[in-house]
Amino acid sequence: MVDQNEYPQTGILQHRVIHMLADLFHAPKEFDVTGTSTIGSSEAILLGLLAHKKRWQNERKKKGLPFDRPNLVVGGDVHVVWDKFARYFDVEMRTLPMKPDRFIMDVGEALRRIDENTIAVGAVLGTTFTGQIDPIPELNRALEHLESETGQSVPIHIDGASGGFLLPFLDPDFAWDFRLSHVRSINVSGHKFGLVYPGVGWLLFRDRQDLPDELVFRVNYLGAEEETYTLNFSSNAAFVIAQYYNLLRLGKEGYRSIMENCRSNARFLAGKLAGSSLFTPIDAHPSLPIVAFRLKPPHAGRETEIASELRKFGWIVPAYTLPPDAQDISVLRVVVREQVSRPMLEQLLDHIEVSSRILLSPPVGHPGTHPLC
Ligand SMILES: *Cc1c(COP(=O)(O)O)cnc(C)c1O
Repeated sequence: MVDQNEYPQTGILQHRVIHMLADLFHAPKEFDVTGTSTIGSSEAILLGLLAHKKRWQNERKKKGLPFDRPNLVVGGDVHVVWDKFARYFDVEMRTLPMKPDRFIMDVGEALRRIDENTIAVGAVLGTTFTGQIDPIPELNRALEHLESETGQSVPIHIDGASGGFLLPFLDPDFAWDFRLSHVRSINVSGHKFGLVYPGVGWLLFRDRQDLPDELVFRVNYLGAEEETYTLNFSSNAAFVIAQYYNLLRLGKEGYRSIMENCRSNARFLAGKLAGSSLFTPIDAHPSLPIVAFRLKPPHAGRETEIASELRKFGWIVPAYTLPPDAQDISVLRVVVREQVSRPMLEQLLDHIEVSSRILLSPPVGHPGTHPLC
C-alpha cells in the first residue's frame, strides 16, 4: 500500500473506496471529503481523534489561549481504543457513567462535561458491549444549540466500526452520518461488516479542513511524491483491493441483502431468547445483528458459567460485565455475521438449553461446591 510509485493502482482503488464510503455516509458535495485506509478501526480512531486534537490546538494558539489541557467526552460504552488514544496522545478522557438500565450515552451528561478544552465528543454506532446505538441525532441537536448559545463548535467523531457498514443498508433514512452538522469524522472496520478479512479500516473526514495540514506527510517514497496520513508504513494492499472488489461485486443491493439476512437471523435469536424462561435479551428487536442477553433472576450473574459450558460444544460466546456504573450486569453476546446461518442459530439455542442445566447445581464458588464443605 505504501509504495504507490510501484503500485499506483492501489492508490487509485483506495481513493475510489473512500469516495464510495463518502457517498454512503452522505458527505455534502460542497465539502472536500478526504480519508484513508487503515489497519482497522483502532488506527482510524487514533488518527481521527489526533486530527481533532491538532485542530483544537491550532485554534487555541491562534487566539492566544492555553492549549495544554485537551479533553475528550465519551460514553462509558466506547471501545478500549478510545482510552488508548487518551493515554498515548495526552488527552484527558471524560467518560460518562452508564446506569443499571442504560448502556449508551446520556446527552445531558455529555453536555455537562464539555468545556472550552473539549476537542471532540465520541459517539458509537453499535457498541462493543450491547450493539446499541448512542443517541447521535439528539447529541447533534444539543451541540448545535451549544454553538448557537456560546459560539463553541464541538465536533463529533462517530465510531461506526460495525454500524458504518450496517446502517446505510438496514436503515438508510436514519441520519447518523455527515447529514448531521457536527459529525466531522467517521471510522468503519472493513473487516467487520465490510466483509473483508483483517486488517482493513477506513477513516473519513467531512472536509479537508478537518485534517490539519501538518499531519499529512508528503513523502518522496522511492521516487514518487505521496501524501499519507497513517501510523504504519508497509501494509498489505490486498485488503483494500478486496474491499473495492466487494463493493463493486455486491453493490448496495448485495450488501443490503446480506445485512438484512444477518439482522433477521439476529432477531430470530433475540426473539427465542425473549421467549425463554431463563434468559432475557437486552433488546428483543435489535436494530443491528448483535444480540446481547443475560440470565434472569435468580440466576443473573452466572453468565460466565454458561459461556464455559458452550465452549464444550465449540461455541465461543463472550461473557463479560458492562462498564461502570452498570458493572453489576453481566451479559453474553452473539454477533450474527454473514456466515452464521439460521440452522446454526437453532443449534446454538439447543446448546444454550443444554448448558443451562448447570444452573440446577449451585453457582461455581458457592460453599456447596467446595470439596471441604
Ligand atoms: C471492533 C471495534 C473497534 C476496534 O476496531 P478494529 O477494527 O478491531 O481495530 C472500535 N470500536 C468499536 C465500536 C468496535 O466494535
